[in-house]
Amino acid sequence: MQNALKMDDRLPNKSYLLRTSVLSGISLFLTLIALFFAIFHFVHQNEYVMAFAECILSVYSCSVYTRIKQKRYSQKYILSYAYYLMFMLLLGTYSQPVTQGLFIWSSFAPMMLYLLLGIRHGMYTSGIFLLIQSVIIAIKFSHNDTYNMLESMFNLVLCYVGIWVVSHLYESNRSDIENSLMYLASRDSLTGTHNRLSLSTAFHRFTSTKKEKQHLSLLILDIDYFKQINDRFGHDIGDKVLIETSLIISRIVGDENLFRIGGEEFCITLFDMDLDEAKKIGEKLRHTVSSHLFSFGDKRLQLTLSIGICRYRNGDNLSDILKLADIELYKAKKNGKNQVRICQTGAKTSTTEEEVEHYESV
Ligand code: GH3
Ligand code: MG
Ligand code: MG
Repeated sequence: MQNALKMDDRLPNKSYLLRTSVLSGISLFLTLIALFFAIFHFVHQNEYVMAFAECILSVYSCSVYTRIKQKRYSQKYILSYAYYLMFMLLLGTYSQPVTQGLFIWSSFAPMMLYLLLGIRHGMYTSGIFLLIQSVIIAIKFSHNDTYNMLESMFNLVLCYVGIWVVSHLYESNRSDIENSLMYLASRDSLTGTHNRLSLSTAFHRFTSTKKEKQHLSLLILDIDYFKQINDRFGHDIGDKVLIETSLIISRIVGDENLFRIGGEEFCITLFDMDLDEAKKIGEKLRHTVSSHLFSFGDKRLQLTLSIGICRYRNGDNLSDILKLADIELYKAKKNGKNQVRICQTGAKTSTTEEEVEHYESV
């Protein structure tokens, strides 16, 4: 179970998409603006060092923009570009006359850092950047009178901190909203377990990062005679049974491995477990649930589970394995329920007509 995936890893990471679209805008803007200034400094002002530095900025920004468009980037790549931009801003402030007002661009830093690096990284780097920038400005002003220096520093710090606070609030609200949307999108509203969408993203993540000989066993589990529970005790009690059953199961297999895929049907992913180990877990689940006494007010009830198990083989897709595990579940039901059955063959096995007919009618 060490390989189990966290909920946040399962669904498409919207923060990542936001950061890359911000980066794409900034890199395109800087490619053009830096090129313009490089030509201007080279042709009109004969400032060759400056023009050279701007040329490098333009080329680097252009390569960042191209890589983003080709989707060939990583978090490290985003980080290194953000640090490079901060470095250029500090270098510009240090090397240019303070009267040019280049340091005013510092005010953009917190916004850009929060958007590109997220809340934690954004907060640290904004603080460090302000500190270094203040020292540089103090050095630059050291020849002028102190009053001028304090006035400029005061304006810069006030403006910077204002934008810093707004950026921080924006990013923390945005990530809270994103987390709750991700939670809603990946969970079943009744039991709070993961849902089918989460199962397919977890499976996709497994197949795309899978190492040689890494196992995955998949269990499909169905409560026996559940309709009778609803009929006898009412739908509300039926709901409570579903919630309690999912709690019992998740205590054994871990919340991250449990998915509700139908009314009283759950799927369990067991990473790094072969069929024998998965069968033991299946038996443990069956035994724990069947010996549990459900108690709601003066009502007492017990129930049993039927479980079908199949293991992943290279090239299988999710529906292949689900189909086979469901066939085993069907056999368990047909054989008297309250039992665990495993599929010994792979997903590309032949199935009897009766089994296929059953599956297609589900
Ligand atoms: P078997 O032993 O063969 O599995 O039969 P069963 O009665 O468990 O299964 P069947 O498929 O006949 O009925 C499942 C029932 O589950 C029917 C449906 O009303 C009920 N159900 C589905 N979703 C929910 C839910 O969210 N809450 C409650 N209380 N009942 C539900
Ligand atoms: Mg059932
Ligand atoms: Mg069912």
